[in-house]
Amino acid sequence: MALLNSIDRRGFLKALGSAGAVGALAPGQLLAESGETAAAWQNWSGNQKANPNQLLFPRQESELRQAIVDSVGTLRAFGGSHSFSGVVPTDDTLISLEAMAGLRQQQGELFTWGGGTRLAMASAQAHGQGFSFLNEPDINLQSLAGAIATSTHGTGTKLTSLSGQVEALTLMLPDGESLKLDRNDGDRFLAACCSVGALGIVTDITFRHQPAYRLKEHTWTLPLREAMDFVEKEKDNFRHIEFFAFPLGEQAIVKTMEITDDPHDSAPRADDNDLLETICKIAMHAGWLTPSLQKLVTLFVEDSTFTAPSHVVYGNRRTVRFNEMEYTVPADDGMACLEEICETLRKEDINVFFPIEFRYVGRDDRLLSMFHERDGASLSIHQYFAQDHEPVFKPVEPILRKYRGRPHWGKLHNLGRQELAELYPAFDRFQAVRRELDPQGRMLNPHLMQLFA
Ligand SMILES: Cc1cc2nc3c(=O)[nH]c(=O)nc-3n(C[C@H](O)[C@H](O)[C@H](O)COP(=O)(O)OP(=O)(O)OC[C@H]3O[C@@H](n4cnc5c(N)ncnc54)[C@H](O)[C@@H]3O)c2cc1C
Repeated sequence: MALLNSIDRRGFLKALGSAGAVGALAPGQLLAESGETAAAWQNWSGNQKANPNQLLFPRQESELRQAIVDSVGTLRAFGGSHSFSGVVPTDDTLISLEAMAGLRQQQGELFTWGGGTRLAMASAQAHGQGFSFLNEPDINLQSLAGAIATSTHGTGTKLTSLSGQVEALTLMLPDGESLKLDRNDGDRFLAACCSVGALGIVTDITFRHQPAYRLKEHTWTLPLREAMDFVEKEKDNFRHIEFFAFPLGEQAIVKTMEITDDPHDSAPRADDNDLLETICKIAMHAGWLTPSLQKLVTLFVEDSTFTAPSHVVYGNRRTVRFNEMEYTVPADDGMACLEEICETLRKEDINVFFPIEFRYVGRDDRLLSMFHERDGASLSIHQYFAQDHEPVFKPVEPILRKYRGRPHWGKLHNLGRQELAELYPAFDRFQAVRRELDPQGRMLNPHLMQLFA
């Protein structure tokens, strides 16, 4: 392989370092080499691993094109490796665009970023130039291309996911051809804005940003029932609203965010990751304590506010690893669905300490978006990474499906092509674009075969 950036397993960490990636990666994401059996890539939670023949970090478009044209077998891209589902792994060729990250062009509020640019970098740089993303997820270590591939979202009934904020993008197809796509390209564009990486490599993305704004976050606790009533009643009265439900302890942490004129930055948030990790370990070994721990942990949450530029408020620091399943149900069914899940966890006495995150997201028209033509309530179920997640996810998934939930592409689920086609009304339109742009199925790894083939 002629590419300078083609690396073997032993050079993995070194090459990541020279690509400027290590500092931006979350702890636990990288696997150091440890003999012949070491995997070369793993995701954030450690439940997905790959040992590809080629792990490439092209530094410019011509290198990327050459790599794609020279490659054989399956071709997959990875960004921040923050997905829990098997959307990345392949034994053949894995490509990161980390070394091609950065701002390519700006015209007013239209910013074109390299696909490998991390959200943290893009949002901070946009802010420096007087702009903010319309909305962001609750962490910002994802790459922009990786985030839109799965319709990554924050919360807010009137705010779309990152996929909904895309104005244009460039896609390098498996034959090396580059396609520039925008709304005039119809289904090709609408498919590429949330593609699960099934169409080709997204080399740049143009977002429409907003004039820079500041946010005031308010966090407090309520008994779970009161939190559910409050959030349902007030959902349209806050720009952002969400809550974390502790079903066994019957408590909740509620969070709202509003735009503010207050120019004063708060002190940095207290970092509770060490405490959380300790509690997770106790709950793992002493499940009978979990309901009490869920009650106890909310006592540590003070009624507090945090004010800062938008990107600082959006970006939380999450170092306690977990695995996650998330489905989006119709917004009006969200609370009923949550109620049924809580009842099941209590009745079956399932040991899960992590809370269920409940968020609203506005509809869009991206073909594979969880929010396609439907306002959504997203319910995220987590389990500490060292604990088996099956005993939690298995009884919960049928409830999410009963409410016509659509799975988050980057999170764990067990659905295949047939079920997905019933849940995503534009699934067949997406499939038509996929077959046209990748007729040989080069982008399909085993997980994507289950989804699309
Ligand atoms: C701690 C944590 C917090 C999270 N918070 C949220 C949240 O608030 N909201 C939410 O919706 N999700 C959240 N997620 C999920 C995460 O945002 C998604 O899984 C997202 O897709 C990860 O982006 P990534 O850059 O890490 O992509 P990866 O996980 O590396 O890849 C995801 C997909 O993108 C494809 N891809 C990557 N780069 C390219 C490219 N250049 N061209 C084409 N395809 C590409 C990959 O092939 C894969 O299919 C969270 C995950 C974690 C671990």
